[in-house]
Amino acid sequence: VDRLAAVGEIAAGIAHEINNALAAIFGQTANGDQRDAEELRAALARVDGQARRIADIVQGMLGFARPRPPRVELVDLAELTARTLDLVRPDLERQGVALETAFSPDLPPAQADPQQVQQVLLNLFRNALQAMGDQAQGWLRVGVVRVDDRLAVRVSDGGPGIPPEILPRVFDPFFSTKEKGSGLGLSVSYAIARAHGGDLQVESEAGRGATFTLLLPMGTVAAEHMERVLLVDDAPDVAEALAQMLMREGLHVTRAGTGEEARSLLAAESWDAILLDVRLPDVSGPEIFAELQRTRPDMAQRVIFITGGLWRSESRLRQQLPAQPTLAKPCTQEQVHDVLRRLRDQRRQAA
Ligand code: ADP
Repeated sequence: VDRLAAVGEIAAGIAHEINNALAAIFGQTANGDQRDAEELRAALARVDGQARRIADIVQGMLGFARPRPPRVELVDLAELTARTLDLVRPDLERQGVALETAFSPDLPPAQADPQQVQQVLLNLFRNALQAMGDQAQGWLRVGVVRVDDRLAVRVSDGGPGIPPEILPRVFDPFFSTKEKGSGLGLSVSYAIARAHGGDLQVESEAGRGATFTLLLPMGTVAAEHMERVLLVDDAPDVAEALAQMLMREGLHVTRAGTGEEARSLLAAESWDAILLDVRLPDVSGPEIFAELQRTRPDMAQRVIFITGGLWRSESRLRQQLPAQPTLAKPCTQEQVHDVLRRLRDQRRQAA
C-alpha cells in the first residue's frame, strides 16, 4: 500500500512538473498570429526554455527508472572529487563561497563508475550552492576519507540546512522545495550510490547547514572477491596488452613468462582461469595442460589456449588441441570478453 501510494505521488509529481512547463508554453503560444516578429522571438526563447525543462524531467525519470548499471573500475576518489570541484569553481567564485578541502593521504582506490560518481558529486555541490544562494559568508567543505572498509566523500555547506520535517523526504523522487527544482537530483544520486553497494546519507539541523556523505566500496576489498587469472605468455608486449584487457574485465591478473614459472604457480595456487600460450620457450602449452589434467583436472577445465602467429602449422596444432576455448592473437576486448564467458558457461555446464 505504501509503495502504491508512493507511485501515485511520483506520478502526481511528474504530472505537476510537466503541466507547469506546458502551461508556460501555452502561455507563450497563445495569440501567436497577432504578435510581431520580435515578440514571437522572445516567446520562442521561453518556449525553448520550458521544452528543455521537460526534456530534463524526462531524462531524470529515465535515469531513475532504468539507471545504467555502474561500470566499475578502480578509482582515485580524491582525484575525481578534485576534478569535479574544478567544474563548479566558477560558481563558487561568483557566489563568493569559500572552499575548504581535506583529502586523507594514501587512500586506497574506490570500486566505482567514475562518470556516475561525478554525477552524484555535481548534484551535491550544486545543491549546496543553491542552498546558500547569495548569502554572505557561504562555505563548502569537501572531505574524502576512509570509513572502516569504505571510502566516503563528505560534502558540507554553510547554508540554511534542512528542517526536520523535510529531512526524511529529500531522497524522494520529485520532492523539491525549489521553484524550478525537478526533485530528481538526490533520488537519482541515491539510486547510483546503492547500485554501487554504497550509500548516500544526510545530516542537517535547520540553521546549521547540511552534510551529505557518499559511501563507496573500497577497491581492495572487492579485489579479494575478484576472479584470479594466470596469464602465461612469453612475449612481454602481448602479455601486457592481454593483461590490460583482462583487468578491464574485472579480473586480477598474475603473469608467467615461461612454462617453468607457470608450473610452479599452478602447483602453488588455485586459479579461476588460466590463459596459456600454446608456444612457450621451454615447454608447450598443451604439455602443461596434459600435466594439469593428471594432477588438477578441475583446473585443467579452466584453461584457455592462446594461439597466434603461423597459421599453417597452427591449423594442424588446432586439431591436436584439447577441447578448451581458444583465443587467437592479436585479440580484441570483445574476444577476451567472449572467451571468458565461454569458459564460465562450460564450467557451469560441467557443474
Ligand atoms: P532539486 O535540487 O531539484 O530540488 P534534489 O533531489 O537534488 O532536487 O533535492 C531535493 C531537496 O532537498 C531540495 O529541493 C532541497 O529542499 C533539499 N536539499 C538538498 N540539498 C540541500 C542542501 N545542501 N541544503 C538544504 N537543502 C537541501
